[in-house]
Amino acid sequence: MTKTALITGVTGQDGYYLSRFLLQKGYRVVGLVLPQRQSSLAKLGSLVNKLEIYAVDLTDSRVLSGLLEQVQPQEIYNLAAPSFIPDSWNNPLETLDVIAGTTTRFLMAIRQAGVKARFYQASSSEMFGQVDPSPQDENTPFRPMNPYATAKLHAHWTMVHYRQRYNLLACSGILYNHESPRRATQFVTRKVCLAAAAIKLGISDRLELGNLDAKRDWGYAEDYVQAMWRMLQQDQPEDYVIGTGKLHSVKELVATAFECVGLDWTRYVVVNPNLVRSDEHFLLVANTKKAKQKLQWQPQMSFENLVEKMVLKDLERLQNGTIATSAKP
Ligand code: NAP
Repeated sequence: MTKTALITGVTGQDGYYLSRFLLQKGYRVVGLVLPQRQSSLAKLGSLVNKLEIYAVDLTDSRVLSGLLEQVQPQEIYNLAAPSFIPDSWNNPLETLDVIAGTTTRFLMAIRQAGVKARFYQASSSEMFGQVDPSPQDENTPFRPMNPYATAKLHAHWTMVHYRQRYNLLACSGILYNHESPRRATQFVTRKVCLAAAAIKLGISDRLELGNLDAKRDWGYAEDYVQAMWRMLQQDQPEDYVIGTGKLHSVKELVATAFECVGLDWTRYVVVNPNLVRSDEHFLLVANTKKAKQKLQWQPQMSFENLVEKMVLKDLERLQNGTIATSAKP
């Protein structure tokens, strides 16, 4: 029988890779987009023709329950979120409503519709926040430090409550930073890779960054969507930490990206103290023992190969003009 997966946030980075992965597995893939954001579908390129797309208001649980009755998904992946953390300080209420509200409405809708769907919640390592033990695992306490992380934690706990009270097969993937050539340009990995490509081509001559010593656990999005799917194939719904377990600094990121295009980064990078984040000294790094044991999952792409992939894609985009001028650094 063909399985049906429903994805919110289908137009984002993970939505793209997850849709492609599920289509390859023979799934019918249904993607949701907000009526006012249908232009985002262009980001999916030709993949959009292989998906069933519904323009749906995510703020009404009755609309969602009607949709679930109609679509009858076996799996729901809840990826929709304003995901750039600094924006959550400007729009804390919208962040809370989109992340926590949408998750709650979906959980309500699953019960209202009476569908037997498994549910994946896109949680974030940001929920750990002010961490003391490092690396973190599924038992590390949460101490979120920004409105995005607080909203994600609200969604996470609501999902846990629904799982316990109503026996839903719902899982939370606590994912660390994952990147790809599809990462939005405001994120530091893409910003650096795009700048290296643009400087190489003479389109730009400098790159402003904050704290070069900040460290992150960066992985590859295509690896991570496979972990999401594996979580929903388990008989017991549980939460999993997903990351690489390796830390790299922004300085290493810059050096690797500029090396890909044969440039000495120290000639182009300028430190701007206004870009330093206050929470950057906490070391968010994953202990993925549980995912390795129970999901047989581990990341495949190295940090160096990921950065190279991103730089080469941006070089190609700049050379053939398929990147908006406004996105150039
Ligand atoms: P992304 O590329 O920013 O995609 C986010 C998706 O959510 C897009 O489809 C976006 O639509 C949609 N969205 C944004 N604001 C919305 C709103 N107000 N109402 C409804 N939909 C909205 O993020 P991603 O990297 O694919 O991440 C997927 C999920 O995993 C997100 O929930 C993110 O918070 C979470 N996560 C990501 C990471 C990471 O490192 N990538 C780590 C941990 C957790 P548009 O295309 O129209 O903007």
